[in-house]
Amino acid sequence: MLDEYCERLGPGLWAEPVNALTNLVFILAALLLWRLLQQQYPQRRPLSLRWLIVLVASIGVGSGLYHTFATPWAMWMDVIPILIFQISLLWTYLRRLAGLGALVSSGLMMLFMAANYASGLVPDWLNGSMMYAPAIASVLLLGLDHARRQSCERWLLLGAFAVFCVSLFFRTLDNQWCEIWPLGTHFVWHVLNGLVLYLATRALITVRGAFQ
Ligand SMILES: [Zn+2]
Repeated sequence: MLDEYCERLGPGLWAEPVNALTNLVFILAALLLWRLLQQQYPQRRPLSLRWLIVLVASIGVGSGLYHTFATPWAMWMDVIPILIFQISLLWTYLRRLAGLGALVSSGLMMLFMAANYASGLVPDWLNGSMMYAPAIASVLLLGLDHARRQSCERWLLLGAFAVFCVSLFFRTLDNQWCEIWPLGTHFVWHVLNGLVLYLATRALITVRGAFQ
C-alpha cells in the first residue's frame, strides 16, 4: 500500500474518499470539452483533439483508481495517462498551432522528456511536486506563444498556467498542513487541475484553421 497523501490513514479501498471522488472533475471537464468540440467542428472532428479529450477522461479514471487502491499498479494507471496527455498536447501544439516541422518538434519533445527524466531523479523534493516542473514550464512557454500568436481566446493557456501554479501549491503543501487540516489539500489539486486541463485543451479546440 502506498501512503503518499494526508487524507489516507491506512489501507483499504475507501480510505481517501475525497481524493477519489474529486476525480469526477476530470470527467466533467472531458464532457464539457466534447460539447465544445461538437460546436466548433459540427462535421469532421480532428482525431488529435478527440484523443486529448479521451485522455482527460482517462486521467480522471486513472487517478480515481490510484486514490482508491493505492497500489503500485494503480499508481501507474495514474501516472501514464497524465504523461501521455502532456506529450500529446505538446506535440499537437508544436505541429498544428506553432506550425513547426517534424524534426524541430521531435527535438523539443526529446528535451521535454529529458527534463521529465531529470525531475524524476529528485522524487522527494517538494512532496513529489518536482516531477511537474517540466509540465508547468512548458505551459508557461506555450502560453506566452499562444497569447502572442492568437487573437481569439488568447489568454487561455496563460490562464491554465496561473491555475496550475495555485494547484501545484496545494499539492505540495498537502502533508505539511496535515496536523491542522486532517483532510489534506490534495483534493484541491484535483479540482483545479480539472480546470487546467479544460483551459489547455480548449485553447487547442478554439483555434481556427489549425486542423484543416
Ligand atoms: Zn491525486
